[in-house]
Amino acid sequence: MSSMNRRSFLAAIAGGAAALSTSLGCAADARNALAPAAGEMDLILLNGKVITVSPDDAIADAVAVRNGKIVAVGATQDIRRLAGTSTRVIDLGGKCVTPGLVDSHFHLIYYGQQFREGMLDVRFPRARSKQDLLQLVAGHARITPKGQWIVGNQGFSLNIDGVPSLAELDAVAPEHPLYLKDRSGQFSLANSLALRDAGITKGTPDPLNAKIGRATNGAPNGLLFHYPAEQMVQRRIPRYGVNTATDVAEGQRRALEAGYTSAQDVIVMQQETIDIYRAAERAGTLKTRLYLMRYLASEQQLQAVLAHQERFSGEWLTFGGWKLAIDGGGGAGTQLMHDRSLRVANRSYPFFEQNVLNRMVLQLHRTGLQIAIHACGDRAVDMSINAYEAALQASPRPNHRHRIEHAMFVTPQALERIKRLGIIISTQPQWISFFGEGQHMWTSDAAMERFFPLRSMMDMGIPVAFGCDVPATIMVEPRYAFIGAVTRTNRGGYMPAPEQSISIRDALRIHTMGSAYASFEENIKGSIEPGKLADMVVWSHDIYTASSRELAALKPLATIVGGKIAYEGLNTA
Ligand SMILES: [Zn+2]
Repeated sequence: MSSMNRRSFLAAIAGGAAALSTSLGCAADARNALAPAAGEMDLILLNGKVITVSPDDAIADAVAVRNGKIVAVGATQDIRRLAGTSTRVIDLGGKCVTPGLVDSHFHLIYYGQQFREGMLDVRFPRARSKQDLLQLVAGHARITPKGQWIVGNQGFSLNIDGVPSLAELDAVAPEHPLYLKDRSGQFSLANSLALRDAGITKGTPDPLNAKIGRATNGAPNGLLFHYPAEQMVQRRIPRYGVNTATDVAEGQRRALEAGYTSAQDVIVMQQETIDIYRAAERAGTLKTRLYLMRYLASEQQLQAVLAHQERFSGEWLTFGGWKLAIDGGGGAGTQLMHDRSLRVANRSYPFFEQNVLNRMVLQLHRTGLQIAIHACGDRAVDMSINAYEAALQASPRPNHRHRIEHAMFVTPQALERIKRLGIIISTQPQWISFFGEGQHMWTSDAAMERFFPLRSMMDMGIPVAFGCDVPATIMVEPRYAFIGAVTRTNRGGYMPAPEQSISIRDALRIHTMGSAYASFEENIKGSIEPGKLADMVVWSHDIYTASSRELAALKPLATIVGGKIAYEGLNTA
């Protein structure tokens, strides 16, 4: 790689842009003819391949931006005339531009928290095995004062059957309370000191919707299933649940670096987190646009929250509605499948009985806001549909846009009902490649026929949105979503239901317009069209013509939010 290549993309083309700007001294008259209203353009992009994701999938080569909005899209020769003396002009040199990606499922503040100093980093590829994990803990115990917590970030990537036992955890951290969370967030490990500190004993009842793992004699075995059980330990750890402005900044930095200009934070646990986001909005430090959904763990909490929840909406921060969960995940064995004998489901149970879920969904539906339900397994998806159907029957409402998150396994009958009821599927195609083999091993050939049926959803006209779900997903970059949706390949060449692959054009449209639709924002974002927010990404490769090898190297050269360069990447393509 030459030193020239190591400069940022924008620095590398700066000479060209300056020359271009100065050669346009006489463009003012023509500009007035084109510009719909007075005022100079703030930013102009020229000589690119601008994939607009407009209704007819138009390709342009230039864009003009003023006051944070897209003003004109078209040919370089026409857009160039809009440049004024204070316009920043960027010659793209043929590079590909798309609308800023909208992520429909991104735990932004919580993701930012995973990189705090002092947290033990156990994320892939750091802990590939039980031995790796135990070694990391042992090493950390040597440098941590006795009695202090050892806390891993979310998290290690081991299936429930392959995790260390309580005795093994105690052996590597005999003098520190220890807490380690699985990557999926659906189960955690605690050693004996941590369990004791949290007051978890043989006599402790399971918290609502959650389970304390137990040995045959009923004593806790160090496993904790689902958030309410995990929180029993988490709330003992200093600062663990306390979100900060730094976490927001870190989460945003990583989102922009990946090319997301909007993110939907679908688990906001507490009012304090909303307050931090609101403070960032007031301070002008939000660089990605955010849409928040408040997580409700119980009917009781629902009543308390509904009475006070403030609503707000704007271009930078919107309160969108409510999030529930009905099952866990395959790695924890808590993925709710109709066939409970499958290993992904052998510890599964519905987090709410159907009648309770129905009551909660109806009450939330009547707030007029959107609901999203975490449902991975086919039975979880069916229970979610049942609840939405009952609520819509009791209280019909057009354009509700209620959502199911993940929907890894969906039966053909469920697809029909989803279509009929107007439910949105917000999902993670990167999991097709990341977890296809593992799900195959822990389910069956027959089940895998129903694994992420994206092609069927598209053919039926079901609205689909994509979101990466970090930190439950290790890799944040959208290239993994594209690769999963388009190739459906796993290591070793396994392709679950290959006929369900979709085109790169469809995948991009879902990750822009589809995800914007999932937050009622398709009229202001998701495509490069006049009047929309000037959120765009300049990419290292042409997304529409990239080979799968090139797609695997895809990265942003620049992420533009509201017409401002929010991230600049290195030009190494
Ligand atoms: Zn999630």
